[in-house]
Amino acid sequence: MPLRKLYVELTSSCNLDCAICYRRSWTKAPLDMSEATFARVVEFSACSPELRTIVLGGIGEPTSSPLFMNALSAFPGKDLTLTTNGTDLDDRTLTELARYAKLVVFSVDGMDDAFGRIRGTELKGVLESVRKLSAFRTALGKDTPRIEFQFVLSVLNAGDLPDVVDLAADTGVNTVVVSHLLPQDAANSPYVLYNRYGKPTTKTLYERVRLRAMRRGVSVLLPPLELKTERRCSFAAEDAVFVNADGNVCPCYRFSHDGTEFVFGREKRVREVSFGNVAKESLDSIWNSVSFGGFRRTLLENRYPSCPDCDLLEGCDMTSDTESDCWANSPSCADCLWARGFMRCP
Ligand code: SF4
Ligand code: SF4
Ligand code: SF4
Repeated sequence: MPLRKLYVELTSSCNLDCAICYRRSWTKAPLDMSEATFARVVEFSACSPELRTIVLGGIGEPTSSPLFMNALSAFPGKDLTLTTNGTDLDDRTLTELARYAKLVVFSVDGMDDAFGRIRGTELKGVLESVRKLSAFRTALGKDTPRIEFQFVLSVLNAGDLPDVVDLAADTGVNTVVVSHLLPQDAANSPYVLYNRYGKPTTKTLYERVRLRAMRRGVSVLLPPLELKTERRCSFAAEDAVFVNADGNVCPCYRFSHDGTEFVFGREKRVREVSFGNVAKESLDSIWNSVSFGGFRRTLLENRYPSCPDCDLLEGCDMTSDTESDCWANSPSCADCLWARGFMRCP
Protein backbone atom coordinates (compact mmCIF):
# COMPACT_ATOMS: atom_id res chain seq x y z
CA MET A 1 0.00 0.00 0.00
CA PRO A 2 1.23 3.54 -0.63
CA LEU A 3 1.96 5.89 2.21
CA ARG A 4 -1.17 7.95 2.90
CA LYS A 5 -0.50 9.86 6.10
CA LEU A 6 2.69 11.56 7.21
CA TYR A 7 3.40 12.86 10.71
CA VAL A 8 6.15 15.49 10.63
CA GLU A 9 7.83 16.39 13.91
CA LEU A 10 9.20 19.86 13.15
CA THR A 11 10.76 20.00 16.59
CA SER A 12 10.96 17.89 19.71
CA SER A 13 11.35 20.96 21.91
CA CYS A 14 8.47 22.76 23.57
CA ASN A 15 7.72 26.04 25.32
CA LEU A 16 5.92 24.13 28.12
CA ASP A 17 6.90 21.37 30.52
CA CYS A 18 3.62 19.59 31.25
CA ALA A 19 3.35 17.23 34.21
CA ILE A 20 2.18 14.39 31.94
CA CYS A 21 4.59 14.89 29.02
CA TYR A 22 6.40 11.93 27.41
CA ARG A 23 9.44 14.17 27.05
CA ARG A 24 10.02 13.95 30.80
CA SER A 25 11.39 10.41 30.45
CA TRP A 26 13.68 11.16 27.48
CA THR A 27 17.42 10.84 27.75
CA LYS A 28 18.25 12.72 24.52
CA ALA A 29 18.10 16.51 24.27
CA PRO A 30 15.26 17.93 22.13
CA LEU A 31 16.10 19.39 18.74
CA ASP A 32 14.63 21.19 15.71
CA MET A 33 14.28 19.41 12.37
CA SER A 34 16.93 20.71 9.97
CA GLU A 35 15.97 22.64 6.84
CA ALA A 36 17.58 19.96 4.67
CA THR A 37 15.54 17.18 6.30
CA PHE A 38 12.34 19.20 6.00
CA ALA A 39 13.10 19.88 2.31
CA ARG A 40 13.33 16.09 1.73
CA VAL A 41 9.92 15.61 3.34
CA VAL A 42 8.39 18.37 1.19
CA GLU A 43 9.98 16.90 -1.94
CA PHE A 44 8.48 13.49 -1.15
CA SER A 45 5.06 15.03 -0.55
CA ALA A 46 5.11 16.89 -3.86
CA CYS A 47 5.76 13.65 -5.79
CA SER A 48 3.26 11.50 -3.89
CA PRO A 49 -0.32 11.93 -5.08
CA GLU A 50 -1.53 9.12 -2.81
CA LEU A 51 -0.23 10.90 0.27
CA ARG A 52 -3.38 12.60 1.54
CA THR A 53 -2.69 13.90 5.04
CA ILE A 54 0.17 15.79 6.65
CA VAL A 55 0.15 16.13 10.43
CA LEU A 56 2.42 18.82 11.85
CA GLY A 57 2.79 17.33 15.27
CA GLY A 58 4.80 14.95 17.34
CA ILE A 59 6.23 15.01 20.80
CA GLY A 60 7.08 18.69 20.89
CA GLU A 61 5.36 21.94 20.00
CA PRO A 62 5.36 22.51 16.21
CA THR A 63 4.81 26.26 16.54
CA SER A 64 8.16 26.51 18.40
CA SER A 65 10.01 25.41 15.26
CA PRO A 66 11.68 28.02 13.02
CA LEU A 67 10.24 26.04 10.08
CA PHE A 68 6.65 26.33 11.25
CA MET A 69 5.33 29.29 9.25
CA ASN A 70 6.83 27.97 6.00
CA ALA A 71 5.48 24.51 6.73
CA LEU A 72 1.89 25.78 6.65
CA SER A 73 2.04 26.44 2.91
CA ALA A 74 4.59 23.74 1.99
CA PHE A 75 2.10 20.94 1.30
CA PRO A 76 -0.39 22.20 -1.32
CA GLY A 77 -3.16 19.76 -2.14
CA LYS A 78 -2.79 17.82 1.13
CA ASP A 79 -5.08 17.82 4.16
CA LEU A 80 -3.04 19.66 6.77
CA THR A 81 -3.48 18.94 10.49
CA LEU A 82 -1.78 20.82 13.31
CA THR A 83 -1.54 19.64 16.92
CA THR A 84 -0.63 22.44 19.30
CA ASN A 85 -0.70 23.50 22.93
CA GLY A 86 -2.12 26.78 21.59
CA THR A 87 -0.12 29.01 23.93
CA ASP A 88 1.89 30.93 21.36
CA LEU A 89 -0.34 31.72 18.39
CA ASP A 90 -0.44 35.32 17.19
CA ASP A 91 -3.07 36.71 14.81
CA ARG A 92 -0.89 36.22 11.74
CA THR A 93 -0.37 32.54 12.56
CA LEU A 94 -4.08 32.04 13.25
CA THR A 95 -4.99 33.69 9.93
CA GLU A 96 -2.59 31.40 8.08
CA LEU A 97 -4.03 28.41 9.92
CA ALA A 98 -7.55 29.40 8.92
CA ARG A 99 -6.31 29.54 5.33
CA TYR A 100 -4.27 26.32 5.09
CA ALA A 101 -5.30 23.84 7.80
CA LYS A 102 -8.06 21.23 7.60
CA LEU A 103 -7.87 20.37 11.30
CA VAL A 104 -6.34 22.12 14.33
CA VAL A 105 -6.10 20.18 17.56
CA PHE A 106 -5.63 22.10 20.81
CA SER A 107 -4.52 20.39 24.03
CA VAL A 108 -7.21 21.38 26.52
CA ASP A 109 -7.44 18.95 29.38
CA GLY A 110 -9.03 20.78 32.25
CA MET A 111 -10.65 23.99 33.40
CA ASP A 112 -8.52 26.76 34.92
CA ASP A 113 -7.10 25.02 38.02
CA ALA A 114 -6.51 21.54 36.60
CA PHE A 115 -5.20 22.99 33.33
CA GLY A 116 -2.76 25.17 35.27
CA ARG A 117 -1.57 22.23 37.38
CA ILE A 118 -1.05 19.94 34.38
CA ARG A 119 0.26 22.41 31.80
CA GLY A 120 1.90 25.03 34.04
CA THR A 121 0.25 27.89 32.16
CA GLU A 122 -3.12 29.64 31.89
CA LEU A 123 -6.07 28.33 29.93
CA LYS A 124 -7.43 31.74 28.98
CA GLY A 125 -4.74 32.48 26.36
CA VAL A 126 -5.45 29.15 24.64
CA LEU A 127 -9.18 29.83 24.59
CA GLU A 128 -8.60 33.25 23.09
CA SER A 129 -6.71 31.60 20.21
CA VAL A 130 -9.47 29.02 19.76
CA ARG A 131 -12.13 31.76 19.56
CA LYS A 132 -10.09 33.80 17.11
CA LEU A 133 -9.42 30.82 14.86
CA SER A 134 -13.12 30.05 14.86
CA ALA A 135 -13.89 33.69 13.94
CA PHE A 136 -11.23 33.80 11.17
CA ARG A 137 -12.68 30.59 9.74
CA THR A 138 -16.13 32.16 9.65
CA ALA A 139 -14.76 35.39 8.12
CA LEU A 140 -13.26 33.36 5.28
CA GLY A 141 -16.64 31.66 4.74
CA LYS A 142 -15.12 28.24 5.38
CA ASP A 143 -16.10 25.29 7.52
CA THR A 144 -12.46 24.29 7.92
CA PRO A 145 -10.22 24.05 9.78
CA ARG A 146 -12.22 21.79 12.03
CA ILE A 147 -11.18 22.49 15.59
CA GLU A 148 -10.72 19.77 18.19
CA PHE A 149 -9.81 19.65 21.85
CA GLN A 150 -7.49 16.84 22.89
CA PHE A 151 -8.15 15.88 26.51
CA VAL A 152 -5.74 13.50 28.31
CA LEU A 153 -7.98 11.95 30.95
CA SER A 154 -6.68 11.06 34.41
CA VAL A 155 -7.51 11.43 38.08
CA LEU A 156 -5.97 14.90 37.80
CA ASN A 157 -8.75 16.29 35.59
CA ALA A 158 -11.64 13.79 35.30
CA GLY A 159 -14.15 16.04 37.07
CA ASP A 160 -13.57 18.79 34.51
CA LEU A 161 -14.42 16.78 31.41
CA PRO A 162 -18.15 17.70 31.29
CA ASP A 163 -17.25 21.40 31.65
CA VAL A 164 -14.67 21.12 28.87
CA VAL A 165 -17.48 19.79 26.66
CA ASP A 166 -19.41 23.00 27.46
CA LEU A 167 -16.30 25.03 26.71
CA ALA A 168 -16.01 23.32 23.33
CA ALA A 169 -19.63 24.18 22.52
CA ASP A 170 -19.07 27.81 23.56
CA THR A 171 -15.91 28.33 21.49
CA GLY A 172 -16.83 26.78 18.14
CA VAL A 173 -14.97 23.51 18.69
CA ASN A 174 -16.28 20.55 16.70
CA THR A 175 -15.00 17.56 18.65
CA VAL A 176 -13.47 16.64 22.01
CA VAL A 177 -11.11 13.70 21.61
CA VAL A 178 -10.39 12.00 24.92
CA SER A 179 -7.29 9.90 25.39
CA HIS A 180 -6.18 8.10 28.54
CA LEU A 181 -2.98 8.95 30.35
CA LEU A 182 0.05 6.80 29.52
CA PRO A 183 2.23 7.53 32.56
CA GLN A 184 5.89 8.25 32.02
CA ASP A 185 6.89 8.07 35.66
CA ALA A 186 5.92 6.21 38.82
CA ALA A 187 4.33 9.31 40.36
CA ASN A 188 1.72 9.56 37.56
CA SER A 189 1.12 5.82 37.37
CA PRO A 190 -1.75 5.71 39.94
CA TYR A 191 -3.64 8.45 38.07
CA VAL A 192 -4.93 6.30 35.19
CA LEU A 193 -8.69 5.74 34.87
CA TYR A 194 -8.63 2.40 33.03
CA ASN A 195 -7.73 -1.10 34.09
CA ARG A 196 -8.26 -4.66 32.90
CA TYR A 197 -11.93 -4.82 33.89
CA GLY A 198 -13.02 -1.17 33.96
CA LYS A 199 -13.59 1.25 36.84
CA PRO A 200 -17.23 1.99 37.84
CA THR A 201 -16.40 5.65 38.57
CA THR A 202 -15.08 6.16 35.03
CA LYS A 203 -18.21 4.52 33.63
CA THR A 204 -20.39 6.99 35.55
CA LEU A 205 -18.25 9.88 34.28
CA TYR A 206 -18.67 8.67 30.68
CA GLU A 207 -22.45 8.63 31.10
CA ARG A 208 -22.41 12.26 32.30
CA VAL A 209 -20.13 13.30 29.48
CA ARG A 210 -22.24 11.62 26.80
CA LEU A 211 -25.36 13.35 28.10
CA ARG A 212 -23.65 16.75 28.18
CA ALA A 213 -22.25 16.24 24.67
CA MET A 214 -25.66 15.34 23.31
CA ARG A 215 -27.29 18.39 24.91
CA ARG A 216 -24.60 20.76 23.61
CA GLY A 217 -24.23 19.25 20.12
CA VAL A 218 -20.54 18.48 20.47
CA SER A 219 -19.03 15.24 19.29
CA VAL A 220 -16.99 13.45 21.99
CA LEU A 221 -14.78 10.44 21.36
CA LEU A 222 -14.15 8.42 24.51
CA PRO A 223 -11.50 5.71 24.88
CA PRO A 224 -12.32 2.23 26.24
CA LEU A 225 -12.59 1.72 30.00
CA GLU A 226 -11.16 -1.76 30.08
CA LEU A 227 -8.79 -4.02 28.21
CA LYS A 228 -10.51 -5.42 25.12
CA THR A 229 -9.31 -8.36 23.06
CA GLU A 230 -9.49 -6.35 19.86
CA ARG A 231 -6.30 -4.56 18.78
CA ARG A 232 -5.82 -2.03 16.01
CA CYS A 233 -2.66 -0.10 15.27
CA SER A 234 -4.09 3.06 13.70
CA PHE A 235 -0.70 3.92 12.17
CA ALA A 236 -0.43 0.63 10.26
CA ALA A 237 -4.16 0.63 9.45
CA GLU A 238 -4.03 4.16 8.01
CA ASP A 239 -0.75 3.65 6.12
CA ALA A 240 0.88 6.30 8.27
CA VAL A 241 4.45 7.06 9.17
CA PHE A 242 6.14 9.37 11.66
CA VAL A 243 9.26 11.33 10.71
CA ASN A 244 10.87 12.57 13.90
CA ALA A 245 12.94 15.75 14.29
CA ASP A 246 16.13 13.76 13.53
CA GLY A 247 14.64 12.71 10.19
CA ASN A 248 14.26 9.11 11.37
CA VAL A 249 11.31 7.25 9.87
CA CYS A 250 9.42 5.64 12.75
CA PRO A 251 6.23 3.56 12.71
CA CYS A 252 4.31 5.64 15.27
CA TYR A 253 4.36 8.15 18.14
CA ARG A 254 5.24 5.48 20.70
CA PHE A 255 8.33 4.35 18.82
CA SER A 256 9.49 7.86 17.86
CA HIS A 257 11.81 8.41 20.86
CA ASP A 258 13.57 6.47 23.61
CA GLY A 259 11.60 6.80 26.83
CA THR A 260 9.77 5.11 29.66
CA GLU A 261 6.12 4.18 30.10
CA PHE A 262 4.06 2.48 32.79
CA VAL A 263 1.72 -0.20 31.42
CA PHE A 264 -0.86 -1.03 34.09
CA GLY A 265 1.75 0.04 36.66
CA ARG A 266 4.64 -1.93 35.09
CA GLU A 267 7.68 0.13 34.13
CA LYS A 268 8.80 -0.39 30.55
CA ARG A 269 11.67 1.06 28.55
CA VAL A 270 10.58 2.06 25.06
CA ARG A 271 13.23 2.14 22.36
CA GLU A 272 13.04 4.40 19.31
CA VAL A 273 12.42 2.34 16.18
CA SER A 274 13.67 3.72 12.88
CA PHE A 275 13.55 2.09 9.46
CA GLY A 276 15.82 4.73 7.88
CA ASN A 277 16.56 8.44 7.74
CA VAL A 278 15.10 10.76 5.10
CA ALA A 279 18.40 12.66 4.82
CA LYS A 280 20.11 9.47 3.61
CA GLU A 281 17.41 7.60 1.72
CA SER A 282 14.15 8.44 0.02
CA LEU A 283 11.04 8.13 2.15
CA ASP A 284 9.53 6.05 -0.62
CA SER A 285 12.25 3.40 -0.46
CA ILE A 286 12.16 3.33 3.36
CA TRP A 287 8.37 2.87 3.31
CA ASN A 288 8.63 0.09 0.72
CA SER A 289 11.59 -1.68 2.35
CA VAL A 290 11.21 -5.37 3.19
CA SER A 291 11.80 -4.71 6.89
CA PHE A 292 9.22 -1.92 7.26
CA GLY A 293 6.67 -3.73 5.08
CA GLY A 294 7.11 -6.90 7.16
CA PHE A 295 6.68 -4.95 10.39
CA ARG A 296 3.38 -3.42 9.20
CA ARG A 297 2.11 -6.76 7.91
CA THR A 298 2.73 -8.34 11.34
CA LEU A 299 0.48 -5.68 12.88
CA LEU A 300 -2.23 -5.81 10.24
CA GLU A 301 -2.40 -9.61 10.46
CA ASN A 302 -2.33 -9.47 14.27
CA ARG A 303 0.66 -11.79 14.46
CA TYR A 304 2.00 -10.64 17.81
CA PRO A 305 1.34 -11.79 21.36
CA SER A 306 -0.56 -9.89 24.04
CA CYS A 307 1.29 -9.16 27.29
CA PRO A 308 -1.31 -7.33 29.43
CA ASP A 309 -3.58 -10.39 29.66
CA CYS A 310 -0.91 -13.13 29.41
CA ASP A 311 -0.86 -15.79 32.17
CA LEU A 312 2.95 -15.72 32.16
CA LEU A 313 3.19 -11.96 32.64
CA GLU A 314 4.40 -12.08 36.25
CA GLY A 315 7.45 -14.20 35.45
CA CYS A 316 8.29 -12.87 31.99
CA ASP A 317 11.40 -10.70 31.70
CA MET A 318 10.70 -9.69 28.09
CA THR A 319 8.18 -7.06 29.20
CA SER A 320 10.78 -4.75 30.76
CA ASP A 321 11.43 -3.19 27.33
CA THR A 322 10.19 -3.18 23.74
CA GLU A 323 13.15 -5.11 22.28
CA SER A 324 11.43 -8.45 21.64
CA ASP A 325 8.63 -10.83 22.62
CA CYS A 326 7.96 -14.56 22.88
CA TRP A 327 6.88 -14.76 19.22
CA ALA A 328 10.35 -13.56 18.16
CA ASN A 329 9.12 -10.14 17.04
CA SER A 330 11.65 -7.35 17.36
CA PRO A 331 10.71 -4.67 18.17
CA SER A 332 7.64 -5.85 20.04
CA CYS A 333 4.20 -4.21 20.06
CA ALA A 334 2.80 -6.85 22.45
CA ASP A 335 2.35 -4.40 25.33
CA CYS A 336 1.12 -1.40 23.31
CA LEU A 337 -1.82 0.47 24.83
CA TRP A 338 -2.22 2.64 21.71
CA ALA A 339 -3.30 -0.43 19.74
CA ARG A 340 -5.89 -1.09 22.48
CA GLY A 341 -7.42 2.33 21.87
CA PHE A 342 -6.47 3.76 25.29
CA MET A 343 -4.30 6.42 23.64
CA ARG A 344 -5.33 8.33 20.52
CA CYS A 345 -3.70 10.74 18.16
CA PRO A 346 -5.11 12.86 15.29
S1 SF4 B 1 2.60 20.86 25.27
FE1 SF4 B 1 2.82 18.71 24.64
S2 SF4 B 1 4.98 18.49 24.03
FE2 SF4 B 1 4.81 20.39 25.22
S3 SF4 B 1 5.35 19.81 27.31
FE3 SF4 B 1 3.10 19.72 27.11
S4 SF4 B 1 2.63 17.57 26.57
FE4 SF4 B 1 4.82 17.93 26.19
S1 SF4 C 1 1.13 -1.29 17.70
FE1 SF4 C 1 1.70 0.40 19.03
S2 SF4 C 1 3.93 0.37 19.19
FE2 SF4 C 1 3.34 -0.92 17.47
S3 SF4 C 1 3.49 0.44 15.70
FE3 SF4 C 1 1.37 0.50 16.40
S4 SF4 C 1 1.23 2.24 17.82
FE4 SF4 C 1 3.40 1.72 17.52
S1 SF4 D 1 6.31 -11.66 25.95
FE1 SF4 D 1 4.95 -13.39 25.64
S2 SF4 D 1 5.21 -14.65 27.47
FE2 SF4 D 1 6.00 -12.61 27.95
S3 SF4 D 1 4.24 -11.55 28.88
FE3 SF4 D 1 4.28 -11.05 26.70
S4 SF4 D 1 2.86 -12.54 25.78
FE4 SF4 D 1 3.44 -13.34 27.81
